Order: sequence, then structure tokens, then C-alpha cells
Amino acid sequence: MFFKDIIGQKEIKRRLIQSVKDGYIPHARLISGPEGVGKIALALAYARYLSCSNRREEDACGVCPSCIKYNKLSHPDLHFVFPIIKNDKKKKEVCDDYLKEWREFVLQNPYFNLSSWLNFIGAENSQGMIYAKESEEILRKLNLKAYESEYKIMIVWMPEKMHEACSNKLLKMIEEPPVKTVFLLISENPDRVIGTIQSRSQSLPVPPIAPEDLATAIPPVIAGLNRNLLNEEEISNLVHLANGSYLKALEVIETGEENQQYLNLFITIMRNCWKRDVKNMKSEAETFAAMGREKQKSFLAYAQNMIRENFLYRLNLPEINYLNPEEAGFSKNFSPYVNENNVIGLMDELALAERHVESNVNPRMIFFDLSMKIAVLIK
Ligand SMILES: [Zn+2]
Repeated sequence: MFFKDIIGQKEIKRRLIQSVKDGYIPHARLISGPEGVGKIALALAYARYLSCSNRREEDACGVCPSCIKYNKLSHPDLHFVFPIIKNDKKKKEVCDDYLKEWREFVLQNPYFNLSSWLNFIGAENSQGMIYAKESEEILRKLNLKAYESEYKIMIVWMPEKMHEACSNKLLKMIEEPPVKTVFLLISENPDRVIGTIQSRSQSLPVPPIAPEDLATAIPPVIAGLNRNLLNEEEISNLVHLANGSYLKALEVIETGEENQQYLNLFITIMRNCWKRDVKNMKSEAETFAAMGREKQKSFLAYAQNMIRENFLYRLNLPEINYLNPEEAGFSKNFSPYVNENNVIGLMDELALAERHVESNVNPRMIFFDLSMKIAVLIK
């Protein structure tokens, strides 16, 4: 991560670069702000700049031995502390046991949140934390001499997830830091970091990303969706929803894509049912079965919503209709088939299918059965 790779945040970057030039290197910084604004990216770029042996005016050089090691986050004077899940079977109990996964994950994309990290290490249903045992590790690492750099840098992601015993040890280290040691604490909830750590650290609040910077950062091609497909209004809508968070912007794009997928499936089902095309009903049941349980459930919720919207569509009340242009295009032709005689029946069948997914009934059967019932209902 270089400063040039960070989305927006010009003022924060300028301040960090200037402080290094001025030789003002606080031994602890508390970098705080909402998720998705670039706190980790900033910490990494700053650490790299500090460690670079051939600093340029506005960024690290990218070619010195230190920069080369930073490319893989494997510099011996760069240490990480982050929430993990204890795994007794695999003997994973401190951050270094997850270091390989951590480096891979952070290098992939330094804009992430706790749940995506836990997901990455297969612990999505657990609460990550920084355990008491980590304090021995922190002490051990900081008592080492700096190997190659002037500074030893320790990046602590989410100090608010730290066990109290560990927080207290960390506080001692921050109060009496070994020479040339820099702590970069990155927090989404600085109020939950113990007060004495807060007061001993130089505070660096990171604001939301400016709308114009976020608009240009939307990835040109994300999971097959072409940036050019988004018109200016859609981009500004997306930026508005993202509220200064790059993560949130990606999330909005992804939900949009899922929606598209669900609409396509909904259209196919309704066409097959209307044509009483049993062969295609069967093959669509395979598509449905392959989606996975959570997606099956959210598709069925989406379908119920579509039925409700199509019923309302007929009543011609645009102010209570929430269809995107593509959905509305389909509803123009489809809505006459949803009426007072079948709307309750259709909703009931979709809700029943959702409950069946919930209780692990064979998805092919659920879907095929559902298609047959819809075929009768929309006759
Ligand atoms: Zn360099």
C-alpha cells in the first residue's frame, strides 16, 4: 500500500507525510473512524513511508529493500496485532499463527471489516478477539532490536477487541515505549479503547471519503458488472448510499447484482409456469438448488416482494410502488396475471417454500412443487 493507492483523504495523507518530513514521529497514533474510509490503508502507507530508505516527496520509493519487503508485508520490523479466533485443534492461539492468512487477506484489499476477515479465516459465526496471551507476544516482539529499519512498527487493528489484561500490558508499553517504536492503533470505536491508551496516543480521526473521490474510485469492472453501465445518476445515488465508505459502496453494487440475478430467475419461473413448461421447470429447479440455502431464502423473499409489487402495479398507484426500471418493464406485462383471486395463494406458496428451505427439504422438490402450484394459480 502506497499513499497514492488510497482513496481520497488528501488532507490526512498530507499531514502524515509532512509529519515524517518534520521528524515528528509520535510513538502512538490512534487512527479512528467508521469502517471503509481507509484507516488500515493509511496506516500501511504511513508505515511503509516511515520505513522507506529513499523517501520521495509524496510517497515511499517502492524499490528500496524495505519497500520490497513491504510489498509482501513481510518486513521484520513490521508487526501486526488483530482479532482472531482461538483454534485449539490447529493450535492457533496468537496472531502470528494467522500471519500467513492475514498477509494474504490484507494484500488482496486493504478495505475490509471484521466480519469479512473472520469470514476469510472460516470463523464467521464467532466473535473475534485479541486474547490475553497476545500480550506476551507484543512484549517479546518489541523487546527485539530493530532488524533493518530505524523504527519498529506495530499495527494494532481493533484495540477495542483486546482482552483487558492485554490492554493493560499494551498501555505500559505505550507509556514507556522502547526506543524507536511506533504503535499504530486502528479503531472503529475509539470510545471502547481504554481511556489511558486513548490519552497517551496522538489522535488521528479519519473522516468519510469525499463524494467526488468515492465516485471516481468505484471499480471499473466489478464481478462482471461494467462501470459504464452505471449512468451519472446511478453513480451519485450509489455514492449517496455509501456515505463516505468504500466498503459500503462495494456492498451496494453487490446487492444490485444479486437483485438482477433474482429478477432473471423470477422472470424465467413465471414464463415457465405460464407456458406450463414442465421440462424447463425441472431444469430451473437445478439452478435454484445450486444457489445455497441463504440465497434460496432471499430469492423467495424477493419473489414475494415482486408479487406484492405486481399486485399494486395493477392498482396504478406509482407513489407506493418500489420497482427499479427493469422490474417495472417486466411488471407492465406480468401484472395482469396477479389479481385478487390469486395474490394470497401466490404469497402463501412462496412463504411455504421459504419455510421448507429453512427446514432442509430437498430444494429441487421445493422448487418444482412451487412451480406447479404457481402454474395453476396464474392460469
Ligand atoms: Zn522505499
